[in-house]
This record gives sequence, structure tokens and C-alpha cells, in this order.
Amino acid sequence: DPALRLSDLRVRYDERTENRPNGVSFDVARGEVVLVLGPSGCGKSTLALALNGLVPHALAATMTGFVTVNGIRTTDAPVSRLSQEVAMVFQDPDAQIVTGTVLDEVCFGPENLLLPVAEVLERSEHALRAVGLWERRLDNPDVLSGGGKQRLAIACALAMDTPILVLDEPTANLDPVGIRDVYAVLGDIAAAGTHAVVLIEHNLDAAIDLVDRVVVLDGDGALAVSGPTREVLAG
Ligand code: ADP
Ligand code: ADP
Repeated sequence: DPALRLSDLRVRYDERTENRPNGVSFDVARGEVVLVLGPSGCGKSTLALALNGLVPHALAATMTGFVTVNGIRTTDAPVSRLSQEVAMVFQDPDAQIVTGTVLDEVCFGPENLLLPVAEVLERSEHALRAVGLWERRLDNPDVLSGGGKQRLAIACALAMDTPILVLDEPTANLDPVGIRDVYAVLGDIAAAGTHAVVLIEHNLDAAIDLVDRVVVLDGDGALAVSGPTREVLAG
């Protein structure tokens, strides 16, 4: 099985709306970074939520086709089980889960997996070092820059130790310095080859160097093109 497989994925929120995405299929292998492009409203964020099982488990939307993460159909497992396979980073750098320190924030996810304390701390230290925030571990997340908050969100995802990482416009609200800092971290993750990565990003210049394949949706949510970065962006 590929790390991630989408097969003819269609999602609609209610009977007044169309399917967005509307029949999208692609695979992502571990070590691969896939960029998803398409106009606003074509279903990119909905696709990202489906990859995490939040569609249809947590959102009242109708989904056909299927998504598998490491061979598990997202409709066959609870979100708590899927959270061991897929971790998600959203666009809002202010999204914070707990009140406490940077370290508390990163520990929260692994703690909820009921892991031994030593492993929670080991994973959290590893993740914070990977994003350059270990020295800031006792700070309140509020005092971090926008880019720092997004690097913290990435650390929270890394600490879940999942094979799949989904990032929905992780730099949408950042200044150029924040964008550079986040892409330095994402470049390291891509180079390490540890994750199957799905990246939704409008800023092609920032992302292009680490992207292996590109998937383009059209305005109707259908798959327009997919292939290796150089082929897709040359055409
Ligand atoms: P983007 O284009 O940056 O992905 P959108 O403007 O499409 O963002 O959506 C922003 C947020 O509003 C998302 O969380 C989305 O789920 C929600 N949203 C978008 N359209 C609707 C809608 N018709 N009804 C309810 N929520 C919506
Ligand atoms: P994108 O991320 O490509 O901008 P979205 O996945 O956010 O697209 O939205 C896809 C379609 O679904 C849009 O028509 C949007 O208005 C609609 N939509 C998104 N979220 C919701 C929601 N929570 N409820 C109803 N409609 C939604």
C-alpha cells in the first residue's frame, strides 16, 4: 500500500452544493511531497480534512470514493486511530490547544496517545529541536512570532510520529521572514524523507524546491493535471 491513497474522492456539504473535490485520485509514497493547487473553493481544504478523517467523521458532509492511510480506510477507523497515521497543520498560527508553555503544547498530542512520560518528552524534544524551538520550550506560545507559532504547530504534528503530514496553507498568514523560517523546516522534513507530505500552498516560489509532484484541481473540483513537478509546471 502507498502511505496515502485517494480514490475518486468526492465530498459535498449538503444538497445545495456541488462535490468539492469532485472525483480526485492520487497516491503519495513515504518520502514524497505532493503539492495540491487549484482556485479558491475547488475543495483543497475539504480534501485535507478528508485525509485526516475529519470528513466525514467530524463534519456533516457526504463523502464517496475513499481515502486510505497506510492501508486503513478513513471511514473504517475513528479519528483517534487515524491521528496515529496522519498529522495536520492548519493555516492559522494562533490556533493553540493548551494554555502553558511551548513544551506543554507539543506534549499534548503524544500525552493523549497515553504514551509513557519518558517517550512523550523524548518525542517532544526531538520535534522542538527539528523546528528550532527547543531553546524556547519554557516560553508561552503567545510570545512567538507568526513563523515561530507555525513552527510550533509543525512540531506538534511531528511529535505525533505519523508517517503522513498534511499542511493546509501553512504560511498563509505569515510575513516573508515567517515564510522563510517555515520553509526551512519543511525543506528539512522533505530532505529527511520521513513522511508522505501533502502540501496546500499558493506561494509556489516558496514551496517549489521541495515538491516532488503536483496535483491541480480545476474550478469544479475535478483533477485537472497531476505529475512530476517539472512536467506539470512546464505545461
Ligand atoms: P480558502 O480558500 O483559503 O481555503 P475559504 O474562504 O474557502 O478558504 O474557507 C474558509 C473557511 O470557511 C473554511 O474553514 C471553510 O471550511 C469555511 N467555509 C467555506 N465555505 C463555506 C460555506 N459555504 N459554508 C460554511 N463554511 C464555509
Ligand atoms: P478551497 O480550500 O479549495 O478554497 P474548500 O475545501 O474550502 O475549498 O471549499 C470547497 C467548497 O465547499 C466551497 O464551495 C466551499 O464554499 C464549500 N465549503 C467548505 N466548507 C464548508 C462547510 N463547512 N459547509 C458548507 N460548505 C463548505
